Amino acid sequence: MTRTVRFTCAGRTDVGIVRAGNEDAFLMIPDAGVFIVADGMGGHAAGEVASEMAVTIVSRALQQVVGRSDADAAEIIRRSLVEANAEIFKRTLVEQDKRGMGTTATAMVINGERYMVGQVGDSRAYVLRDGQLLQITKDHSYVQEQVDAGYLTLEQARTHPYSNVITRCVGANADVAPDVYGGTLHPGDVFLLASDGLTGMLEDYDLHSILSSDRTVGEFVDSLIAEANRRGGLDNITVIVIRVDAVEHSSSTE
Ligand code: CA
Repeated sequence: MTRTVRFTCAGRTDVGIVRAGNEDAFLMIPDAGVFIVADGMGGHAAGEVASEMAVTIVSRALQQVVGRSDADAAEIIRRSLVEANAEIFKRTLVEQDKRGMGTTATAMVINGERYMVGQVGDSRAYVLRDGQLLQITKDHSYVQEQVDAGYLTLEQARTHPYSNVITRCVGANADVAPDVYGGTLHPGDVFLLASDGLTGMLEDYDLHSILSSDRTVGEFVDSLIAEANRRGGLDNITVIVIRVDAVEHSSSTE
């Protein structure tokens, strides 16, 4: 049986307090259920090109997902990230000032009552469900690998000097291996996509506390960015919040 999902969403990027430019990019196409956050690197005139390219290429492909099976949807997301990687990597080879550029990408698509998230790097997707905040994605980062191997605790990882070193990146190499996550949407779910300018400044506890409060999605976005800036705003901050307002049987609405 098909179901109709109703949701509201809001997103914004902010330069933060310390940086002169913003290398993050994001895009929301609510009609297609497509959302993406990308955090570019490589310095000015390179990082912002990489993140913008990833957002454009991946969002174009994700609009083909609607109505597809989970397996097809996952393959479309994976391929879109591989394609973005190839396009960005090509420019790093031929354009002197783009050498070393790359980007993270966390891309979510809503397909019926299902969602899928494609992941490269250390931007993150979370869901607040039934009062619990769950991190959907796993960072591709040096400190995450150290945590997995048992060498660092999560708390040590947060404050580690290499905490911003990522181990997978869109555009840095000839190939990339994205992770894809999927699940079912529940009424009341609040999804958060964010660059590390948010998650590096706020702990999961703080995200949970803000997202549990009684606010609109726009107010969630503003509150999260304001709090990251209040704590120093060391990096560009990008936030998308999607709230699932209802999951309805299609037949009952026709
Ligand atoms: Ca960043």
